[in-house]
Amino acid sequence: MHRIVPLLAATLIGSTSCQGASTPKPDVASPAPAQATTASAKVCAHDSSWTAPQAPFRIYGNTWHVGPRGLGVFLITAPTGHVLIDGGVPGGAPLIEANIRAIGIDPRDIKWILVSHAHCDHAGDVAQLAATTGAEVVAGTGDVLLLARGGHDDPQYGNRFLYPPVQVTRKVTDGEVLRLGDLALTAHLTPGHTKGNATWGWTSCEGGRCLQLVDIGSLSAPDYTLIGNPNHQDIVTDYGASFTKVAALRCDIALAPHPGMVDFWERVARRDRGEADALIDSTRCRVYAEYAKESFRQELAKQSTFRRKPVPSGGAARGRRDRPQRVLRPQVPAMNVKYFRDTDTALLEFSDAAVDETREISESVYVDLDKNGNLVSMTIEHAAALAHLPHVRVEEIDASAA
Ligand SMILES: [Zn+2]
Repeated sequence: MHRIVPLLAATLIGSTSCQGASTPKPDVASPAPAQATTASAKVCAHDSSWTAPQAPFRIYGNTWHVGPRGLGVFLITAPTGHVLIDGGVPGGAPLIEANIRAIGIDPRDIKWILVSHAHCDHAGDVAQLAATTGAEVVAGTGDVLLLARGGHDDPQYGNRFLYPPVQVTRKVTDGEVLRLGDLALTAHLTPGHTKGNATWGWTSCEGGRCLQLVDIGSLSAPDYTLIGNPNHQDIVTDYGASFTKVAALRCDIALAPHPGMVDFWERVARRDRGEADALIDSTRCRVYAEYAKESFRQELAKQSTFRRKPVPSGGAARGRRDRPQRVLRPQVPAMNVKYFRDTDTALLEFSDAAVDETREISESVYVDLDKNGNLVSMTIEHAAALAHLPHVRVEEIDASAA
């Protein structure tokens, strides 16, 4: 007999992850300086959309999208100088600079580079952009040291995701307003994802219609250790306050470091089809905050139930063998299927054995093996196209049916 067990509701977990669910490749131990950026870029940009070219375009008024397809990198222009938010992955600066030039702006007229948070997919090439433009680098106070370390000793990732160190020249506190001529940008600090994670808000106008734009700081906790993490002891409290803060923001157009957080491309497509106000949705910040809060609540509940993950420690770059376990696994043996909707990545977990080796089966499929060569887990990128996930069902066939 065939028993068909729908997995959709119970085990497919839509998650807005910052780094994505892809299996990270090991860091290169002590790379030579000339190779460091290349190696960091490869480890960081495992989602191909993070380096995919995207023609720049006006979002609203003086706010432009100037990043690659898969990352929110924004330029806010003004006669007195411009503001750039985020700098993409290591090696991402040329694409961003070319996009800025393509809209008639000289990158050297950028006065400030604001960092949303100190992870490699947003701060990855800020150092290069700062050198090119001569701009001041602005970040939340809690991220200043992590930026200066180039991602080393991240409270959650250890040394897995590195980037050229960033020297912050102006650190901001919660509610601080930066003014540059007519521009005013407010830093809403939303710690949790990183300690200095920042949500930026500003006003842009078109034809006398002025709207509040918000670049929401990531509120996801991808593979995070939330309980008993000595590297970030207030993490649960921090996240809780940030959910509340983002939900309460005035927010006419929601933007984000990862477009999927706010359905950005779907809205742009609707606008391109003639729906002029498709980007405008005053509920979007609250909706995202509530979604992230619920995801966090579920993860926290799991971590309260199951054994805790090891916490990454600092020190020299760590290889795959001794990296922190990426996911929580229940004590009871079972196959888990997780689907990370924003990165379209599926993670199939088969056992809780320690991972000894990762093999690349194809460009989009990786398997993790234990020291005896047994399968531990499988990562499938572009899962919707390649594996028909998240639409999955399990057929359990017993011997009598044969
Ligand atoms: Zn992040």
